[in-house]
Amino acid sequence: MKGFTDAVAGKHAACRRPVRIGATTLRQGGSGAGIEVAVSEPESMRAWRVVRPGPVAEHPLIFESVLLPEIGANDLLVRVSACGVCRTDLHVAEGDLPVHRAGVVPGHEVVGVVHRVGPAVEGFVPGDRVGVPWLRSTCGRCRYCLRGDENLCPNSRYTGWDDDGGYAEFVGVPAPFALPLPDGYDDVELAPLLCAGIIGYRALKRAAVPEGGRLGIYGFGGSAHIAAQVAMARGVEVHVMTRSEEARTLARDLGAASVQGATDAPPVPLDSAILFAPVGELVPPALEALDRGGILSIAGIHLTDVPPLNYERNLFYEREIRSVTANTREDAREFLGFAGRHRIRVATMRYGLAEADRALSDLANDRVRGAAVLVPRLHGS
Ligand SMILES: [Zn+2]
Ligand SMILES: [Zn+2]
Repeated sequence: MKGFTDAVAGKHAACRRPVRIGATTLRQGGSGAGIEVAVSEPESMRAWRVVRPGPVAEHPLIFESVLLPEIGANDLLVRVSACGVCRTDLHVAEGDLPVHRAGVVPGHEVVGVVHRVGPAVEGFVPGDRVGVPWLRSTCGRCRYCLRGDENLCPNSRYTGWDDDGGYAEFVGVPAPFALPLPDGYDDVELAPLLCAGIIGYRALKRAAVPEGGRLGIYGFGGSAHIAAQVAMARGVEVHVMTRSEEARTLARDLGAASVQGATDAPPVPLDSAILFAPVGELVPPALEALDRGGILSIAGIHLTDVPPLNYERNLFYEREIRSVTANTREDAREFLGFAGRHRIRVATMRYGLAEADRALSDLANDRVRGAAVLVPRLHGS
């Protein structure tokens, strides 16, 4: 049924023979009944795989030609238009997160166009623009799923960690977890919204900042600069603490009430704070900056060790620490709905797909202003 073309194979004649990666999911219905393939489909694609998790300076990823992802009956095959580079990808590449799938293709802020749909898919057709986010599947049956906390599902799977992600020309995604996207943004702007934006939104919810209240933001990268705008749109006064001079400039541009160094005290006591930097040493100063009853929300999936806390200085007067674990689809819908109603400014730096290792290195070394985004067709890369 598939119409193959030699175009891509020819283009990558220099690459070695494609390798089959990953576990096989359900093949499309054996007979192929009901599947329409309107456009020809290449047999192979270019993708980055994490082959030796370790410091990014030691090149843990390789770029090679691999076969296209196989999709199951309920999946979409998506041609990648843009894929954000998230700090979690760095944690996957550097081995801060345990290996869930050997040789995984990272990337979970994918904007693309549906290329082919599995035979059981409803609600999507080829040509639709969709987002492929971090949350890839949940069981729908456990006590957490049943009570609406699917982000806590012990059987959840994640794009670019448990299954191959978007540092590639194509990615597969279960249709129930693909996200319709708001109008008014180009593909590159949308990519960082899909993790940085959604997680920042959840971190903001967890921080429970009152309307018109004061929010501190520690670390000001891809996620923080989006969350700050959501907060400001709600009349919240935002104070930014960051070590990066570039990030301070961005924070001022976006309208932060104050901007200072990473461990400096904000000028006023905070109702809530969000720690975006994956740095445990910032927990005590962030707690000290809270007013009585304040809440510190920790947005990262990984945090270096938190130093000992002083109960009176850091926690007494009912100050709280809350972690943030992934997100629910409801969070994603709420946030993307917000993005459709309020124009969010998304600062991005574009890289060709072939430059993913440089993008990760720039992220590791604080050289990215806003969010890095891979664009497969940038400069014909
Ligand atoms: Zn579950
Ligand atoms: Zn992410």
